[in-house]
Amino acid sequence: MKRRVFSGARPTGRQHLGNYLGAIQNYVSLQDEYDCIYCIVDIHALTSLEDTGGLQRNIHEMMLDWLAVGLDPRKSILFVQSHVPEVTELHTLLSMVTPLSWLLRVPTFKEKIKLQPQNVNYGLVGYPVLMTADIVLYKAEVVPVGEDQIPHLELAREIARRFNSLFGDTFPEPEAKLTSFPLVLGLDGKEKMSKQLGNDIELALSDEETIARVMEAVTDPARRYRDDPGHPEICNIFRLQGYFNPFQLDNIADQCRSAKIGCVDCKMLLAQEINAALKPFRERRAVLAAKPRCVTDVLADGAQRARVIARKTIKEVKQKMGLI
Ligand code: SF4
Repeated sequence: MKRRVFSGARPTGRQHLGNYLGAIQNYVSLQDEYDCIYCIVDIHALTSLEDTGGLQRNIHEMMLDWLAVGLDPRKSILFVQSHVPEVTELHTLLSMVTPLSWLLRVPTFKEKIKLQPQNVNYGLVGYPVLMTADIVLYKAEVVPVGEDQIPHLELAREIARRFNSLFGDTFPEPEAKLTSFPLVLGLDGKEKMSKQLGNDIELALSDEETIARVMEAVTDPARRYRDDPGHPEICNIFRLQGYFNPFQLDNIADQCRSAKIGCVDCKMLLAQEINAALKPFRERRAVLAAKPRCVTDVLADGAQRARVIARKTIKEVKQKMGLI
């Protein structure tokens, strides 16, 4: 029996290089070793999303990218959180065993209050309970996380432990599979690559659009003229070359420092490498996008398979809590 992995991601629409290098590549590689369940967490998105007009389009585009990158519905369960309503039922039941003080001390809750003071909603404080419900509903044993997400997973473990101690062994305590997600900076060279900040490069861009985006990137600010020597160690284009052009890295560093290569040429080199790396992805995506029911069918099948597990867990939970 393979161990079960669960991971969820917000419906952010078309995925960018940061999503790809940071999470999706890892999702794909886990598929052979684990029984994987990957979920687009649309209910979570509502805690901060006030305009839901683009939600369905975002889910569709995101799943197209996931499939084209190599997530395989024959190997993994791919679905949308709200398509399995048992998760909200479990969320309510788990909220009865979760002390409020545990939730109020979560650092991201405090950050969110600062970020969206106009929308400090009830869902925001209960977010970690819903996240726990996501994981334990499927009795997942392993959750791939970056170091910054460890406190969240620890809270999920505490909630599962508390339920088990009150009602008997029900949920495995999910373990963190610590993954070194590279921090991919955006085109501004300062902030993490993010759609919201508009500093991203989407995977599904055309070759020409990719070149245009890369040309907008900030490089070494000290290099004002073509003859100025550069400092690759502080340049984000150089960092990105490390992912897409690793064998030429030393050469690029030398040429940059001695001003033998200009930033425009260096960016063009990077854009060409990105385009070459993403060519198979883009071809697969075009094929999948031409099949109108492809995403809908994958998501319907995923929800059906996820619900089989979810219904069993909910029945067990309700029995143990004395509700049946
Ligand atoms: S030549 Fe390349 S590595 Fe050097 S500063 Fe310009 S873009 Fe950055």
